[in-house]
Amino acid sequence: MRLEAITFDLDDTLWENRGVMQRTETGHYAWLDAALAEWMEARMEEAPEEHGGAPPAAPGRFAERFPLEAFVERRARLARAHPLRRGDFTWLRRRALAELLGEYGLAGHHADRWAERAMERFMALRHEVTPHDEVDDLLHELGRRYRLASITNGNVEVARLALGRHFPVAIAAGELLAPKPDPRPFLAALARLGTAPSRALHVGDSWEEDALPACRLGMQAAWIGPDDRHLPAGIHRLDHVRELPELITWLEKYQ
Ligand SMILES: [Mg+2]
Repeated sequence: MRLEAITFDLDDTLWENRGVMQRTETGHYAWLDAALAEWMEARMEEAPEEHGGAPPAAPGRFAERFPLEAFVERRARLARAHPLRRGDFTWLRRRALAELLGEYGLAGHHADRWAERAMERFMALRHEVTPHDEVDDLLHELGRRYRLASITNGNVEVARLALGRHFPVAIAAGELLAPKPDPRPFLAALARLGTAPSRALHVGDSWEEDALPACRLGMQAAWIGPDDRHLPAGIHRLDHVRELPELITWLEKYQ
């Protein structure tokens, strides 16, 4: 085949994401709990007259009233109530935080502001990813020969990473309200790269969200996953993204 473009999933394709998400999830929630407690304490000291001259009864810490599991549950509930938003994790998170903060007793504008600040913290931690060692050189080399795009269902903005310079096109599928396996993010990437599915390869670790939808569109698919299933024509298994150059050589020669 004459390969023109390569699209990449990000999480668990270019870096190992499990540890990042755990640190991000617990880290931003703990930050919110501590920063909010400090802010409330300072407000009570500043304006005791608002509370009749006596300190109000402490409401208890936010994370005691709403432990992390309550936040996870609220996001799931919101995703069920707003199916179109189910892939827009940033929206779900911000909305869930604002609701819980409101129920904790914050006025609407304070709840929104603290949800926003917690999300800024979340996004900062979310971007502390460590790409696999080979990835930067790999993308640099591939970028000289092919047009590259990233397609993620997650909320990493690839432009915030050093790796972002390799991707002239970056598709945030969840925010398009069409998360993979929906074909639209693939088609959007290919349209912007100016190429056809038959001239493109998609690389990703999810069978359902990467390999199958790319294959259905007539793209070649490099699936990073275990050797545990029959592969239909057009899906090629890799153990690691570092094996991609060999696959590309093979595709260009024999497909
Ligand atoms: Mg992935």
